[in-house]
Amino acid sequence: MRVGVMGGTFDPIHLGHLVTAEAVRHRFGLEQVVFVPTGRPPHKRESDVSNAEHRYVMTFLAVVGNPQFSVSRIEIDRLGYSYTFDTMLALGEVYGAGCELYFITGADVMRDIHTWHRAEGLLTLCHFVAASRPGYTLSDYIAQTNLEKFRGSGHIHLLEVPAMAISSTDLRRRVRMGEPIRYLVPEAVENYIREHRLYLEGSCSEKKP
Ligand code: NAP
Repeated sequence: MRVGVMGGTFDPIHLGHLVTAEAVRHRFGLEQVVFVPTGRPPHKRESDVSNAEHRYVMTFLAVVGNPQFSVSRIEIDRLGYSYTFDTMLALGEVYGAGCELYFITGADVMRDIHTWHRAEGLLTLCHFVAASRPGYTLSDYIAQTNLEKFRGSGHIHLLEVPAMAISSTDLRRRVRMGEPIRYLVPEAVENYIREHRLYLEGSCSEKKP
């Protein structure tokens, strides 16, 4: 059994994330993809990220219609920092020894992976699929890390996903500027953002729903 673990802040989740998950699911023959919104990312100030419950609900709304997608609270409910190593270890126990895990995230993230908690151990626990925005090659990213030694292991994969031209940063800016986000996020997510007045100047993104 092969399972994808889609790790991200998802602030907010957008169609680029969904297209990425589906592309990786198809490419690697994954039976399912579990979306794991980050809890307390070690590399970000808490005030830079919207409340975890809002991000969880938006992720749930985005994936609920697809039986091969699901969302996990594993990082949101964990006390302390969210380390991917701990998440993959825990999910490995949930799915059992015969399961191959594929951690999926943005290729930009991979640049810093050598600084992550137990990075070398992580790459022995799972495959790592980096979704690239158009115009980057695996070598561009590998060259910026000290992960050369893992290159031959077959554990790092890069997938170019044109739909990743959409970015959460740009979506937050669009909402703040009153620009449309329709067709960039699922309709239910767009409605949720509007109802909860997320991403507006002085909005309640930090408060619980
Ligand atoms: P981020 O800095 O918010 O995002 C970096 C880039 O990757 C952005 O361009 C982002 O685009 C893209 N991206 C993020 N998640 C993606 C996904 N699932 N699919 C495609 N592109 C994605 O990164 P982050 O979200 O905080 O962290 C990503 C994952 O790495 C999380 O699971 C996090 O826990 C893990 N991480 C772990 C450690 C550690 O264990 N020490 C350290 C850092 C990160 P958008 O903004 O459009 O999403």
